[in-house]
Amino acid sequence: MNSTPHLDRDLFSADEIRERVEAIAGEIARDFDGGDFLAIALLKGSFVFTADLIRALARHGLHPVVDFLALSSYGAETTSCGTVTLRHELSLPVTGQRVLLIDDILDTGLTLQTACQMLARQGAAEIRTCVLLDKPSRRVAPITADYTGFKIGDVFVVGYGLDYNNRYRHLPGLATLRFYGPPGGA
Ligand code: 5GP
Ligand code: MG
Repeated sequence: MNSTPHLDRDLFSADEIRERVEAIAGEIARDFDGGDFLAIALLKGSFVFTADLIRALARHGLHPVVDFLALSSYGAETTSCGTVTLRHELSLPVTGQRVLLIDDILDTGLTLQTACQMLARQGAAEIRTCVLLDKPSRRVAPITADYTGFKIGDVFVVGYGLDYNNRYRHLPGLATLRFYGPPGGA
Protein backbone atom coordinates (compact mmCIF):
# COMPACT_ATOMS: atom_id res chain seq x y z
CA MET A 1 0.00 0.00 0.00
CA ASN A 2 1.20 3.50 -0.77
CA SER A 3 0.94 6.24 1.84
CA THR A 4 -0.94 9.54 1.55
CA PRO A 5 -0.57 11.23 -1.86
CA HIS A 6 0.11 14.96 -2.30
CA LEU A 7 0.48 17.06 -5.40
CA ASP A 8 4.20 17.68 -5.67
CA ARG A 9 5.16 19.97 -8.54
CA ASP A 10 3.64 21.27 -11.75
CA LEU A 11 5.11 19.54 -14.77
CA PHE A 12 3.29 21.06 -17.74
CA SER A 13 0.76 23.90 -17.72
CA ALA A 14 -2.52 23.89 -19.64
CA ASP A 15 -0.93 26.32 -22.15
CA GLU A 16 2.12 24.10 -22.69
CA ILE A 17 -0.14 21.09 -23.23
CA ARG A 18 -2.34 23.02 -25.68
CA GLU A 19 0.73 23.98 -27.71
CA ARG A 20 1.99 20.37 -27.88
CA VAL A 21 -1.46 19.01 -28.79
CA GLU A 22 -1.63 21.48 -31.69
CA ALA A 23 1.84 20.45 -32.86
CA ILE A 24 0.99 16.73 -32.69
CA ALA A 25 -2.24 17.34 -34.62
CA GLY A 26 -0.14 19.03 -37.31
CA GLU A 27 2.20 16.01 -37.53
CA ILE A 28 -0.74 13.59 -37.73
CA ALA A 29 -2.44 15.71 -40.38
CA ARG A 30 0.71 15.64 -42.52
CA ASP A 31 1.05 11.85 -42.20
CA PHE A 32 -2.62 10.94 -42.69
CA ASP A 33 -2.83 13.24 -45.67
CA GLY A 34 -6.53 14.09 -45.42
CA GLY A 35 -7.64 10.44 -45.60
CA ASP A 36 -10.20 8.79 -43.37
CA PHE A 37 -9.20 6.90 -40.24
CA LEU A 38 -10.44 5.61 -36.92
CA ALA A 39 -9.23 7.32 -33.73
CA ILE A 40 -9.29 4.85 -30.85
CA ALA A 41 -8.89 6.26 -27.36
CA LEU A 42 -7.66 4.00 -24.58
CA LEU A 43 -9.83 4.71 -21.55
CA LYS A 44 -9.91 6.12 -19.07
CA GLY A 45 -6.76 8.25 -18.85
CA SER A 46 -6.75 9.54 -22.43
CA PHE A 47 -10.25 11.02 -22.52
CA VAL A 48 -9.21 14.65 -21.98
CA PHE A 49 -6.24 14.39 -24.36
CA THR A 50 -8.44 12.72 -26.99
CA ALA A 51 -11.12 15.40 -26.66
CA ASP A 52 -8.54 18.13 -27.31
CA LEU A 53 -6.69 16.15 -29.99
CA ILE A 54 -9.73 15.41 -32.16
CA ARG A 55 -10.72 19.08 -32.09
CA ALA A 56 -7.16 20.08 -33.00
CA LEU A 57 -7.29 17.51 -35.84
CA ALA A 58 -10.55 19.09 -37.04
CA ARG A 59 -8.73 22.43 -37.33
CA HIS A 60 -6.38 20.59 -39.71
CA GLY A 61 -9.31 19.25 -41.73
CA LEU A 62 -9.32 15.73 -40.26
CA HIS A 63 -12.54 14.28 -38.83
CA PRO A 64 -11.83 10.70 -37.74
CA VAL A 65 -14.52 8.40 -36.43
CA VAL A 66 -13.85 7.98 -32.70
CA ASP A 67 -14.13 4.79 -30.68
CA PHE A 68 -13.04 3.71 -27.21
CA LEU A 69 -11.22 0.74 -25.81
CA ALA A 70 -10.47 0.10 -22.16
CA LEU A 71 -7.58 -2.07 -21.04
CA SER A 72 -6.33 -2.17 -17.53
CA SER A 73 -3.10 -3.17 -15.85
CA TYR A 74 -3.55 -1.01 -12.77
CA GLY A 75 -5.42 -1.32 -9.51
CA ALA A 76 -5.13 1.40 -6.91
CA GLU A 77 -1.33 1.35 -6.99
CA THR A 78 1.14 3.33 -9.08
CA THR A 79 3.03 0.50 -10.68
CA SER A 80 1.80 -1.74 -13.45
CA CYS A 81 1.02 -5.31 -12.38
CA GLY A 82 2.10 -6.62 -15.78
CA THR A 83 -1.15 -8.28 -16.88
CA VAL A 84 -3.37 -6.35 -19.21
CA THR A 85 -7.08 -7.13 -19.16
CA LEU A 86 -9.85 -5.99 -21.49
CA ARG A 87 -12.46 -3.86 -19.71
CA HIS A 88 -14.42 -2.36 -22.59
CA GLU A 89 -14.58 -3.55 -26.21
CA LEU A 90 -14.61 -1.44 -29.35
CA SER A 91 -18.07 -0.75 -30.73
CA LEU A 92 -16.97 -0.37 -34.37
CA PRO A 93 -15.24 -2.82 -36.73
CA VAL A 94 -11.55 -2.08 -37.38
CA THR A 95 -11.07 -4.50 -40.28
CA GLY A 96 -9.31 -2.72 -43.12
CA GLN A 97 -9.23 0.58 -41.22
CA ARG A 98 -6.33 2.91 -40.64
CA VAL A 99 -6.17 3.42 -36.89
CA LEU A 100 -4.75 6.14 -34.68
CA LEU A 101 -4.45 4.61 -31.22
CA ILE A 102 -4.38 7.25 -28.47
CA ASP A 103 -3.21 6.75 -24.90
CA ASP A 104 -2.35 9.06 -22.05
CA ILE A 105 1.03 7.64 -21.12
CA LEU A 106 3.49 5.07 -22.37
CA ASP A 107 5.07 3.49 -19.32
CA THR A 108 6.14 -0.18 -19.46
CA GLY A 109 4.51 -0.29 -22.89
CA LEU A 110 2.50 -3.43 -22.10
CA THR A 111 -0.88 -1.69 -22.51
CA LEU A 112 -0.08 -0.14 -25.88
CA GLN A 113 1.57 -3.32 -27.12
CA THR A 114 -1.47 -5.41 -26.13
CA ALA A 115 -3.84 -2.91 -27.76
CA CYS A 116 -1.78 -2.93 -31.00
CA GLN A 117 -1.79 -6.74 -31.04
CA MET A 118 -5.58 -6.82 -30.53
CA LEU A 119 -6.18 -4.33 -33.35
CA ALA A 120 -3.82 -6.20 -35.67
CA ARG A 121 -5.66 -9.47 -34.91
CA GLN A 122 -8.94 -7.74 -35.73
CA GLY A 123 -7.55 -6.81 -39.16
CA ALA A 124 -6.62 -3.12 -38.86
CA ALA A 125 -4.91 -2.07 -42.10
CA GLU A 126 -2.48 0.29 -40.37
CA ILE A 127 -1.94 1.27 -36.74
CA ARG A 128 -0.25 4.47 -35.60
CA THR A 129 0.15 5.28 -31.94
CA CYS A 130 -0.08 8.61 -30.16
CA VAL A 131 0.65 9.27 -26.49
CA LEU A 132 0.64 12.47 -24.49
CA LEU A 133 3.46 11.32 -22.20
CA ASP A 134 6.31 8.85 -22.51
CA LYS A 135 8.48 7.43 -19.72
CA PRO A 136 11.24 5.76 -21.80
CA SER A 137 13.21 4.65 -18.73
CA ARG A 138 10.35 2.39 -17.62
CA ARG A 139 9.92 0.46 -20.86
CA VAL A 140 9.51 -3.33 -20.73
CA ALA A 141 7.80 -3.98 -24.09
CA PRO A 142 9.79 -2.93 -27.19
CA ILE A 143 7.41 -0.22 -28.39
CA THR A 144 7.73 3.45 -29.25
CA ALA A 145 4.86 5.79 -30.09
CA ASP A 146 4.62 7.44 -33.51
CA TYR A 147 3.54 10.71 -31.89
CA THR A 148 4.58 11.83 -28.40
CA GLY A 149 3.65 14.95 -26.45
CA PHE A 150 6.33 15.01 -23.76
CA LYS A 151 9.07 12.66 -22.55
CA ILE A 152 9.33 12.51 -18.76
CA GLY A 153 11.39 10.71 -16.13
CA ASP A 154 10.23 8.05 -13.71
CA VAL A 155 7.65 10.11 -11.84
CA PHE A 156 3.94 9.53 -11.19
CA VAL A 157 1.83 12.08 -12.99
CA VAL A 158 -1.78 13.21 -12.54
CA GLY A 159 -4.08 15.78 -14.15
CA TYR A 160 -5.43 16.41 -17.64
CA GLY A 161 -7.39 13.13 -17.46
CA LEU A 162 -4.75 11.11 -15.59
CA ASP A 163 -5.75 9.88 -12.18
CA TYR A 164 -4.61 8.38 -8.94
CA ASN A 165 -7.44 6.26 -7.53
CA ASN A 166 -9.81 8.03 -9.93
CA ARG A 167 -8.95 11.47 -8.49
CA TYR A 168 -7.11 14.47 -9.97
CA ARG A 169 -8.42 13.97 -13.53
CA HIS A 170 -9.93 17.49 -13.51
CA LEU A 171 -6.62 19.34 -13.16
CA PRO A 172 -6.02 21.52 -16.25
CA GLY A 173 -2.27 20.82 -16.26
CA LEU A 174 -0.03 17.87 -15.39
CA ALA A 175 1.55 17.55 -11.96
CA THR A 176 3.63 14.96 -10.16
CA LEU A 177 2.24 13.12 -7.18
CA ARG A 178 4.36 12.33 -4.16
CA PHE A 179 3.59 9.84 -1.44
CA TYR A 180 4.32 10.73 2.17
CA GLY A 181 4.19 8.43 5.14
CA PRO A 182 6.06 5.64 6.86
CA PRO A 183 8.17 3.40 4.61
CA GLY A 184 5.99 0.64 3.21
CA GLY A 185 2.87 2.68 3.91
CA ALA A 186 0.37 2.48 6.73
P1 5GP B 1 1.96 0.58 -19.29
O1 5GP B 1 1.14 -0.60 -19.73
O2 5GP B 1 2.66 1.30 -20.42
O3 5GP B 1 2.90 0.25 -18.17
O4 5GP B 1 0.98 1.54 -18.59
C1 5GP B 1 0.26 2.43 -19.25
C2 5GP B 1 -0.88 2.87 -18.38
O5 5GP B 1 -0.50 2.98 -17.01
C3 5GP B 1 -1.28 4.25 -18.81
O6 5GP B 1 -2.25 4.19 -19.81
C4 5GP B 1 -1.78 4.85 -17.52
O7 5GP B 1 -3.15 4.54 -17.38
C5 5GP B 1 -1.01 4.15 -16.44
N1 5GP B 1 0.13 4.99 -15.97
C6 5GP B 1 1.44 4.80 -16.18
N2 5GP B 1 2.18 5.77 -15.63
C7 5GP B 1 1.30 6.61 -15.06
C8 5GP B 1 1.43 7.85 -14.35
O8 5GP B 1 2.51 8.40 -14.11
N3 5GP B 1 0.27 8.43 -13.92
C9 5GP B 1 -0.97 7.89 -14.13
N4 5GP B 1 -2.02 8.54 -13.66
N5 5GP B 1 -1.13 6.74 -14.82
C10 5GP B 1 -0.01 6.12 -15.27
MG1 MG C 1 -4.23 4.37 -19.37
